[in-house]
Amino acid sequence: MVRPPSVDSLAHSLETSGLPHQLRVEAARRSIANNDHGNAARYAKEILDDLLQPVINGTGVIIHTNLGRSPLRPERSQRDAYRYSNLEIDLKSGKRDSRNKRVGSLLAGYIGAQSAIIVNNGASAIFLVLAAHALGRSVIISRGELVEIGGGFRIPEVLASAGVQLVEVGTTNKTRLKDYETAAKNSEAALILKVHSSNYRMTGFVESVPVSQLGSLGIPVVFDIGSGLLDEAAPWMGWPKPSWLKDEPGARQSLAAGADLVTFSGDKLLGGPQAGIIAGRREMVETCARHPLYRALRPGNLVLEAMGATLFAYLDNRADELPLWRMAKLKVDELKTRAERIGVGRPAPLRAAIGGGSLPGQELDSFGIALKGDLTAKLRQLEIPVVARMEGSDTVIDLRTVDPSDDDYLRRSIQSLT
Ligand SMILES: *Cc1c(COP(=O)(O)O)cnc(C)c1O
Repeated sequence: MVRPPSVDSLAHSLETSGLPHQLRVEAARRSIANNDHGNAARYAKEILDDLLQPVINGTGVIIHTNLGRSPLRPERSQRDAYRYSNLEIDLKSGKRDSRNKRVGSLLAGYIGAQSAIIVNNGASAIFLVLAAHALGRSVIISRGELVEIGGGFRIPEVLASAGVQLVEVGTTNKTRLKDYETAAKNSEAALILKVHSSNYRMTGFVESVPVSQLGSLGIPVVFDIGSGLLDEAAPWMGWPKPSWLKDEPGARQSLAAGADLVTFSGDKLLGGPQAGIIAGRREMVETCARHPLYRALRPGNLVLEAMGATLFAYLDNRADELPLWRMAKLKVDELKTRAERIGVGRPAPLRAAIGGGSLPGQELDSFGIALKGDLTAKLRQLEIPVVARMEGSDTVIDLRTVDPSDDDYLRRSIQSLT
């Protein structure tokens, strides 16, 4: 009987696999355990495929939750050195200070809030607001806004797990100011919570109360606007703003209309890293920042740096350079030219979406490449995986979400498949 090779020598033979040493050893072990050491390279490939890695988004969904939502183009640091930052130190006094001060105040300044803090995601933002302001008390919310956001995040369950009692008002389709007034009189509610219907639309016989009218009830109003559109006017999209943005509440306008706090995601329409933001009245934001849960929900250096760079783009009137807005602004003609230049498959008109559970039903005209048959699995197996979608019996790759510098790679890899 031939003895199998040692784990060491097999791992050594995988040196060109692109895996770090320990994972080469793991691949070698697996292949030996399966009596399949002749195929060790296949086990290495399996491990490689499971790692977090860059992919090409050919779906046309700009904010694709499964592909990491808003794409980032990390700016290269001018200094190629150990990457420390003044995360929690005041450079003037040398004393420790808050990690939220720098990025939080940039953000607050841009949207006209007295103060803002950043947490790990939009869900943490709502959770922290409720825990810090309404623990053991009640919160008034319209029955039309008891929504599920996605990933099983259901507003009624979030309230319950934050130790808050729900006071539902109105009906599924209609809630009037009178409903809120009655509830405000009959309960000692800590907050009124308004939740934007990010991922669905109600049409027909519907009525809801705008945030501007809720301020009159003498109870602080928290508006979960969801997507993090910083400014409804969206000046970075040019004028007039695109029709698909018309129903999306902006952080700046919601505060100006009377919300005491707004909460939103950093990686939906804001176009930054995964984060959640709580912004508004200073003492209410500070109560959140002082709450013990904040310590568990605060983001680290990498997120704050990326958020800082994203906000710089807005403050510098360069928001149209953020990948999210750049993709949203692309002209169909430009995409068509690229599809023709790639020259494989059939150039095809397509419909793209903003996505990320925002702007339901709103699609953008787009253009891409159609390929006969189902090639989606093969495309995902490429060296740089390409995520495409099916349309009828064709595989389609929407170029709106593909960086132009990847067009060449697309051509070569499609040629290799067909
Ligand atoms: C997306 C969304 C959330 C959750 O934000 P995450 O950043 O995904 O945690 C909360 N509320 C609304 C209205 C949303 O659209």
